[in-house]
Amino acid sequence: MQMPVANAEIIARKAEIVARLRSVLPIDAVIDDPVATKVYECDALSAYRCPPLAVVLPASTIQTAAVLKACHEMGVPVVPRGSGTSLAGGAMPTADSVVLGVARLDQVLETDYENRFIRVQSGRTNLSVTGAVETNGFFYAPDPSSQLACAIAGNIAMNSGGAHCLKYGVTTNNLLGVTMVTMAGEIIELGGAYLGSAGYDLLGLICGSEGQLGVVTEATLRILAKPEGARPVLIGFDSNEVAGACVSDIIRAGVLPVAIEFMDRPVIRAVENFVNAGYPDVKALLIIEVEGSETEIDEQLGKIVKIAKRHNPVELRESGSEAESANIWKGRKAAFGAMGQINDYMCLDGTIPVSQLPVVLRRITELSDEYGLDVGNVFHAGDGNMHPLILYDANKSGDLEKCEAMGAEILKLCVEVGGCLTGEHGVGIEKRDLMYEQFNRDDLEIQMMVKDVFDPKWLLNSAKVFPLTASEARRG
Ligand SMILES: Cc1cc2nc3c(=O)[nH]c(=O)nc-3n(C[C@H](O)[C@H](O)[C@H](O)COP(=O)(O)OP(=O)(O)OC[C@H]3O[C@@H](n4cnc5c(N)ncnc54)[C@H](O)[C@@H]3O)c2cc1C
Repeated sequence: MQMPVANAEIIARKAEIVARLRSVLPIDAVIDDPVATKVYECDALSAYRCPPLAVVLPASTIQTAAVLKACHEMGVPVVPRGSGTSLAGGAMPTADSVVLGVARLDQVLETDYENRFIRVQSGRTNLSVTGAVETNGFFYAPDPSSQLACAIAGNIAMNSGGAHCLKYGVTTNNLLGVTMVTMAGEIIELGGAYLGSAGYDLLGLICGSEGQLGVVTEATLRILAKPEGARPVLIGFDSNEVAGACVSDIIRAGVLPVAIEFMDRPVIRAVENFVNAGYPDVKALLIIEVEGSETEIDEQLGKIVKIAKRHNPVELRESGSEAESANIWKGRKAAFGAMGQINDYMCLDGTIPVSQLPVVLRRITELSDEYGLDVGNVFHAGDGNMHPLILYDANKSGDLEKCEAMGAEILKLCVEVGGCLTGEHGVGIEKRDLMYEQFNRDDLEIQMMVKDVFDPKWLLNSAKVFPLTASEARRG
């Protein structure tokens, strides 16, 4: 994976740049010691690393605006960072850039249960948004598996999803407004707590723009009343393809569970070893959850079980208690960590039409054999968002390159069958150079023209999303 050559002239000005940053921020909000900045050299795509020039940690929108204005005037690139859990390298810096971390922007600013919204600073973690409202019977729906750590800022930038997004939609469906600072330091408000914004849907544009158009400092989020009840069922199959076909049939039948999650045997075994979730030792496992009153739950699960039985499941187990349900989800949420215990891994994020699940799962198995690299599959099957985890050994020469090549083949396959390169993790650096598989040069040119409007100097997170060859002239 290639990154642009860092600008030596900017690096040579480090002392002057740091002094200017210190003039607009509290003393402890600027980090320039190379040991301390090392922590920021990568995100969860840890195969690629580069320590930044400096790190700033503003605690307000005003401070964020002051930092961006200063960097803009000095011509210094900025990389926004939430909690650094991006699996696409979205928060990875370049050596000539300042990382702008939002970890200190973690306050709840307003809660309105009557109108069902919460306004938070963007560094607040996803799970703690629900934490702030759950005693009043509310929750924030998008639930990335990283929700304990990831920040609302990163969720907005990547338009993150999660297991329960099959029913509730992803971040963009639950985001009502943002306060954002442009690279030039201008503070703008988009959307708000109530419906009725005229003009272009700029909020929709910002959500998913991967920190390239502005730095989000505050967000207004929709909160929902907790459902009366929820119950997951575990359904085991003796082949990945059959499990895939079962998902396809459930969706075709028009049943809408709140979540349909898929795990194959390598993941099931890793999870069992890690957190002992009580999963059966089958080749493929579906976790399907439905919500509502007891009657609604029984009715929906009845339909699902009937469809599943047509596919000869080898295990069918409905949760019998809240503790059992929590355990089932604990296993799923721990799946990436469990795989990380076995080896280094690269987590892909292609999305495909649900009907193509059996075909794509079969081809992934073939590619795993061809490349000699093990793969575990754990993903949001209901909306066709696949997460093959390719295991490799970072200390073995050539293994990373093999992993990259195999990952590229899988993502190309996703596009070929009618899907796309990313469902929720974003493009970042990981899929940047594969964008030509999905878009032609004209498409990319138009997308880059949008960035021209918000960030004409191309200083904000510019080495991401667009193939380096496409963005080269703009990045100067
Ligand atoms: C174990 C694990 C499980 C995961 N599961 C899921 C999942 O189920 N669903 C899912 O969608 N993702 C998942 N992810 C990926 C990741 O957690 C999400 O992409 C998350 O939204 C990133 O949030 P973050 O705060 O860590 O952002 P970061 O990694 O810090 O940054 C992500 C992107 O956001 C930009 N950004 C950060 N802050 C701002 C800001 N203030 N303004 C503008 N741009 C900004 C960055 O520049 C970068 O491009 C998982 C990751 C891990 C490690």
